[in-house]
Amino acid sequence: TNPVYTGLPTTIFEVMSRLAIEHKSINLGQGFPDVDGPEDVRRFAADALMAGPNQYPPMMGVPELRQAVAEANRRFYGLDVDWKSEVLVTSGATEALSDIITAVIEPGDEVVLIEPLYDCYLPLVRRAGGIPRLVRITPPEWRLDLAALEAAFSPRTKAILINNPMNPAAKVFTREELEAIAALCVRFDAYAICDEVYEHILFDGRAHIPLMTLPGMRERAIRIGSAGKTFSLTGWKVGYVTAAPALLDPIAKAHQFTTFTTPPNLQKAVAFGLGKDDAYYGELGSSLAAKRDRLAEGLARLGFGVVPCGGTYFVTADVTPLGLSGDDAELCRRMTVEAGVTAVPVSAFYAGEAPRNFVRFCFSKRDEILDGAVERLGNWL
Ligand code: PMP
Ligand code: GLN
Repeated sequence: TNPVYTGLPTTIFEVMSRLAIEHKSINLGQGFPDVDGPEDVRRFAADALMAGPNQYPPMMGVPELRQAVAEANRRFYGLDVDWKSEVLVTSGATEALSDIITAVIEPGDEVVLIEPLYDCYLPLVRRAGGIPRLVRITPPEWRLDLAALEAAFSPRTKAILINNPMNPAAKVFTREELEAIAALCVRFDAYAICDEVYEHILFDGRAHIPLMTLPGMRERAIRIGSAGKTFSLTGWKVGYVTAAPALLDPIAKAHQFTTFTTPPNLQKAVAFGLGKDDAYYGELGSSLAAKRDRLAEGLARLGFGVVPCGGTYFVTADVTPLGLSGDDAELCRRMTVEAGVTAVPVSAFYAGEAPRNFVRFCFSKRDEILDGAVERLGNWL
């Protein structure tokens, strides 16, 4: 028989969520909030659904949302963006990543990736024929080794793909690190695919710096955002891409043949949401910072080696001090089955040889759920 491609793995999020459902555990694995996003945004979507039209919206996205994305770029980062030629709406950041990699990467192109990496990056790059060049960062500082970064670039580099704030490391790149990335992109004529879905989820006074705002990057950076994270509506799958016209055009071509479009009422509601006042965005960060502290303190009390978290809604923890047997994957399985708490093994975010002593917990949950998880873990340990 004619073999089909079997190179795509099952995502760790599906594996762990399935196990969590099977064992009715508290699911701190897959990253999603356990309360729905703002009521006014959901109401807007419901009203727009009833008002219609519910037919194919424009391929690039509804004008309201493209305008709102351009306006948000100006409001938060001082970027001057033409909504007609520089903004594309996609069905989530995942579709955006797929469109961008399809459009930008050709077989044999090298792509610089920073490990640990978000789960879909490697399969998408490989399927496009790209050659991954991995740069590893290590906890607890997750500092980017600039010499290693430079060594990963070559005349064959087509792009670097960075996630900032970074999942699962919960790292926020420093300006110095971003400047080094920008300088290498300019020197090697490479593009930067910037997954910035956590752009509004930074803690302790940190400010998000889009790579696109750095010298030489306005025409080289492709910036991705998502309503899933910004409005705690992960099931909506509304994403948006900002890029210079010459870059956005081929990405939109890939989008045409992938989904073509995204539900119109959800797009309009996200446009409304992006206009929310500063209090909304401030509260998003501060409420999650409090949850981070709540879970981190609970885990530390139990003996986990909690790694500092500067953004995203994940905290990683070293299990070595617990003195348990088994690697991270085995431990996450046992924690689900025996303790009733699910986490994600961090080794799933590596291409090759991986550390086996870190697990990732999602803290965008109600306080009583976080407390319940810590209590269960305490009883189990
Ligand atoms: N990139 C990163 C780093 C993520 O954590 C996620 C999950 N939210 C995505 C992309 C996918 O986003 P979406 O749900 O909008 O497809
Ligand atoms: N981004 C989420 C996480 O990191 C998962 C999204 C998904 O399940 N595809 O947990």
